[in-house]
Amino acid sequence: MSFDSFSFSPDIMAGVRALGYTTPTRIQEQSIPPIMQGRDVIGLAQTGTGKTAAFVLPILQRLREGPRGRLRALVISPTRELAEQTCEAVDGLGRQTGLRSIALYGGTNMDQQIQMLRSGVDIAVACPGRLLDHVWKGTISLSDVEVLVIDEADRMFDMGFLPDIRSILRCLIKPRQTLLFSATMPLDIRRLVQDVLTDPVSVQVDRMAPAASVSHALYPVKQHLKTALLMDLLYQIETESVLVFARTKYRAERLAQQLKGAGFRVASLHGNLSQSRRQAALDGFRTGLFKILVATDIAARGIDVLSISHVINYDMPESLDAYTHRIGRTGRIHQNGDAFTLVTGADAAMVRDIEHALNTRLEPRTLKGFDYKAPAPDSERVRPQGRLLVHTARKQELIQR
Ligand code: AMP
Repeated sequence: MSFDSFSFSPDIMAGVRALGYTTPTRIQEQSIPPIMQGRDVIGLAQTGTGKTAAFVLPILQRLREGPRGRLRALVISPTRELAEQTCEAVDGLGRQTGLRSIALYGGTNMDQQIQMLRSGVDIAVACPGRLLDHVWKGTISLSDVEVLVIDEADRMFDMGFLPDIRSILRCLIKPRQTLLFSATMPLDIRRLVQDVLTDPVSVQVDRMAPAASVSHALYPVKQHLKTALLMDLLYQIETESVLVFARTKYRAERLAQQLKGAGFRVASLHGNLSQSRRQAALDGFRTGLFKILVATDIAARGIDVLSISHVINYDMPESLDAYTHRIGRTGRIHQNGDAFTLVTGADAAMVRDIEHALNTRLEPRTLKGFDYKAPAPDSERVRPQGRLLVHTARKQELIQR
């Protein structure tokens, strides 16, 4: 199948070519036709499947016709990063359409957003809280919205945004076209679907199971040796960009500082950082300035870096869903990826859940030459540089490249 079969207008096809897309992904093949027909659609797809373009392209096609400068399409996103990236996809794919888009999220200047809204936009990609701020202030009008996208609905639910979504829905007119994307379908999302979608078409790609193009391995280790093991792993394995997950903002920041102290090119991404520092971390990771990004689950939503070769769970995720989302950051589209999880004795139940979902036994691995018997220090410290198992050539590459 090729993009020609969707009959997009030439200006939209120019955007598709500019982003280098040649063949539609499975979610695009399945969901673009019903969306173009005006149907409501439920897309069961995780990030990395191409779901953003699956809804952006038909929206651009629809909005080409009709009045300009009125807010006719609204995308609700759980995080700033995802909102920003969706907006970038709209700008990239729609560069020749002249349609204007805005990303609306907190932590940034409200007045600038108000000015831009006043000057007229066609598409808004918004986080629920900031969108409602604009609604209550009367600085946005939702009365022209004819297409609504609820993106990563399950994550929105995890983050406690469902009441906000329902408030937003009350401000929208009907009939409208509603598209809902979610990696999983917990009960509350199924209820939302029943309440707000009309006769929806369901399309499903890789539901529940973590991406098939990713290989998974476990590294059993004692809690106090995690940082040392991670460093030795980073020295030994051939990696492109590595995304490391920690359980809390504090642990992510501390680990990033420890890696930085050992000379790695690393940035952190978590909710305690200002928007500009988050953006700098993401941009640096995307361009390769930082080879390693240490993130928390929420901050990592929507990270869109195609060259992520390894996802390393420094801390075990708290749910199978979170594992799926983390792992969805590697092996994107047609590439392969590796997912390593450092596990302690406390993680046994979660390991069983993951093995059950993958329907396979995860391979426990031991890192050659690593001192698994090193005693616990007074506090969890990184081993002094001199004792690290150093593979000199590899280390030079990670630090200087
Ligand atoms: P998403 O699942 O929407 O986050 O998309 C993941 C990545 O795939 C993004 O970098 C997109 O730009 C890219 N992508 C989307 N559609 C295609 C396609 N048809 N061919 C190649 N890359 C694509």
